[in-house]
Amino acid sequence: MRILLYRGDGIIEPWAHDFAARLPHADIVVWHKGMTPASHAPCDYAVVWAPVPALLDQLAQVKAIFLMGAGVDAVLKFGDALPHVPIVRLGDAGMAEQMAEYVAYATLRYFRRFDEYEQQARQGIWDPLPVRRKADFTVGVLGLGKLGMPVLHTLRQLGFPVRGWSRSPKDLPNAECYAGMESLDDFLSGTRVLVCMLPLTAETTNLLDRARLSRLPRGAYLINVARGAQVADPDLLALIRSGHIAGATLDVFRNEPLPAPHPFWSEPLITITPHISALTLREEAVCQIATKIERLERDEAIDDIVDRARGY
Ligand code: NDP
Repeated sequence: MRILLYRGDGIIEPWAHDFAARLPHADIVVWHKGMTPASHAPCDYAVVWAPVPALLDQLAQVKAIFLMGAGVDAVLKFGDALPHVPIVRLGDAGMAEQMAEYVAYATLRYFRRFDEYEQQARQGIWDPLPVRRKADFTVGVLGLGKLGMPVLHTLRQLGFPVRGWSRSPKDLPNAECYAGMESLDDFLSGTRVLVCMLPLTAETTNLLDRARLSRLPRGAYLINVARGAQVADPDLLALIRSGHIAGATLDVFRNEPLPAPHPFWSEPLITITPHISALTLREEAVCQIATKIERLERDEAIDDIVDRARGY
């Protein structure tokens, strides 16, 4: 069996090492630009992250394409140029816990006013601010999938009223559930902390524009850990500057790294992290992908296959 590996960031050797250790009978081929199909025999499987168009030629004969992450937009953008084989995303693989930590931290930081106390401390100000009530802080999670659901669960355990929005209807204990575009305005109008956990699809691109963000109550806070293109940047900035939105914690951006002149950098009410809310844990990911390859070799079913028509 031959497995092709590629990562857009070039950090591939540790992956090759771990796959070779986990699947000792497999031939691991590390692809790089300039390598032609003739450089090696056709591969049975591909394991990729942030692929480039030149890689597509190499995928013609694979039985499945595995992604080293949960987001699938960077691969589905190739559309019909992709072979008609299963595309398999990572399941949880340790990302749900990281995501829950990140969102819990960002929510608590705003709710407990640590952002304001950080500013005060820099100016030598000692000034206890009024206490906020959790009852006034409904957290709304957009997207109730493998990562969104544990995030909602964690915030509920912290005592926040929670609500979730998804495409198909859900019924969850102690959470208000909303489904479909027609319910989005209602969902937003009662949300104090908005957490975006949606996949990037045609429907979710620019979803959070001025009209939608304005539906949030005054003083609402945004946490985006999904994809930057889901938020209209100028609209968010304008609503923060007008005081309608109190601030945002953003981990993802339309262009990454976030370009130096982008106005988000200089907006004090925006907290920026470099796409780290849930990092792929290599050990877990290699184990999960290798187990799925073994199952496919035995003609057994696997989960986490991407639905191309839905886009996630
Ligand atoms: P899933 O595919 O498991 O779940 C997606 C959720 O979004 C589902 O609940 C789905 O609804 C809902 N959804 C999709 N489209 C719509 C729509 N048009 N309207 C309403 N709801 C919709 O995704 P994950 O939870 O695993 O991951 C979410 C995203 O997080 C990833 O796509 C990726 O972009 C991002 N991510 C970011 C990382 C980071 O480090 N910043 C790391 C990993 C992922 P339904 O349940 O009805 O299908």
